[in-house]
Amino acid sequence: MTRRIVVLGGGFAGVSAAQELVKQLRRRRRLVGARGAKADEAYEVVLLNRDNYFVFQPLLADIISGTIETTHVVVPLRRMLPGGTVEVGYLDSVDVTRREVGLRRRWSGDVATISYDALIIALGSVTDLAAVPGMAEHGVGVRTLGDAFYLRNRALDMLEEARIETDPARRERLLTFVVVGGGSTGVEVAAELKDLLELAARSFRDVELRPRVVLVHSRPMVLSELGPRLGRYTTRKLRNAGIELRLGRRVRRVEVDRVELDDHSSINSATVVSTVGNAPNPVLAGIPAARDGRGWLAPDATFSLPGAPDVWAIGDCASIIDPNTDRPMPATAQHAVREGPHAARNVLAALEGQAQTPFDYRQLGMLVSVGRFKAVGDILGIKVSGLLGWLLWRSYYLLRLPTLDRRIRVAIDWTLDLLLARDIVEISVRRTRSTPGEAPGEIPGEPVSIGARPEASDELTL
Ligand SMILES: Cc1cc2nc3c(=O)[nH]c(=O)nc-3n(C[C@H](O)[C@H](O)[C@H](O)COP(=O)(O)OP(=O)(O)OC[C@H]3O[C@@H](n4cnc5c(N)ncnc54)[C@H](O)[C@@H]3O)c2cc1C
Repeated sequence: MTRRIVVLGGGFAGVSAAQELVKQLRRRRRLVGARGAKADEAYEVVLLNRDNYFVFQPLLADIISGTIETTHVVVPLRRMLPGGTVEVGYLDSVDVTRREVGLRRRWSGDVATISYDALIIALGSVTDLAAVPGMAEHGVGVRTLGDAFYLRNRALDMLEEARIETDPARRERLLTFVVVGGGSTGVEVAAELKDLLELAARSFRDVELRPRVVLVHSRPMVLSELGPRLGRYTTRKLRNAGIELRLGRRVRRVEVDRVELDDHSSINSATVVSTVGNAPNPVLAGIPAARDGRGWLAPDATFSLPGAPDVWAIGDCASIIDPNTDRPMPATAQHAVREGPHAARNVLAALEGQAQTPFDYRQLGMLVSVGRFKAVGDILGIKVSGLLGWLLWRSYYLLRLPTLDRRIRVAIDWTLDLLLARDIVEISVRRTRSTPGEAPGEIPGEPVSIGARPEASDELTL
């Protein structure tokens, strides 16, 4: 009988786990075949994901600035997993007693039940915008491809709105972008947003537009995880690039047209981007398994999940204790791609009654882009910055991008960006009306002026 190993989540952890399972099973089949025995077809690997593509999140900020084409940071899952089965849909439920998961198809809404013999949970985390009052209503997250695409379009849209706004206060509000969080994502997003806005503003010849990007961070220095020297360096580079920093401050409330900080000061802004607020994926809430104090799944050192037989948890959705520090391992792609293959080998060992091995990995370093030609980083304890850091950052991520196809496309995008003027086209998702009885025309699509006119409804002025 074929045993089914189901992997939930087609991100860094899930894809690397599924690829390793396929590789191990292929190797075994070759060995069995070489001995002249019947091929071992005892396992099936099923990868389940919301979309039919994998998102390379470390390059999402490049979509905002337009240095990379939107589809070049995503990779078709079927091309990444030729020896496995890919199922696309929303995971609705996980029943560890019946050993089955419910997958809702995106188009029909039908729910398919998929049973498993072993389950690897790699569903990542979600952004909880509700942690700050008003953020869920008025803020923008940066986690998905849609978020990056939306933010880019919104930034360009705000410039268009500002151009025709005659009230100076409203114009300033439209041109002010607040980024919350001074970790690596916040720094990269602020830098790329500033790049885009400055470049695009120069194309408005009839009016002078002065976009502002303000970065709010709760600590006294951005990127404090890289140490004081690089933290100070990054702070200086961001300031030189014209990014305003509000350090040692927290956002208390977000309204349609302003952001209030914990020192009672406020920033008038129509666009607030949140890069903080990681939270456990709600679909995992019902699983009766071990959790840490903050509600994250808490597997043991082999990634086995106590309380849920034949279930393993890896990547951002799991709180995995680092044996060297006794603290949870960082939620990074760097860890996720190492946890995936390790979990795959442990799953096969467990299914065959062999011992599983504990995971141990020390972070090699970190590289963060701080805008055009500048990056900072720490590689095996060696600090790098400036142009060298930037070249290392680009080379590293180019090499880590899955598939040769995507590496070539991104390399071409980056080269063209050095030679040609950057694209500042705002892509509207307006569609032709197709509902019978409705007046012919177009479906408007996205809000265009939230925050522009607070006295009007918060709904869109179209
Ligand atoms: C903007 C940004 C920049 C980053 N930069 C870096 C960096 O430079 N270096 C670094 O090491 N890390 C970086 N990270 C962190 C890194 O991307 C994550 O740590 C990594 O993606 C974790 O991998 P994962 O597989 O656990 O989760 P993900 O990669 O998030 O994968 C989870 C998968 O589960 C799927 N999923 C979730 N819920 C459902 C559902 N209900 N049904 C079906 N499918 C579902 C999602 O679609 C997704 O494909 C960055 C993150 C962001 C957001």
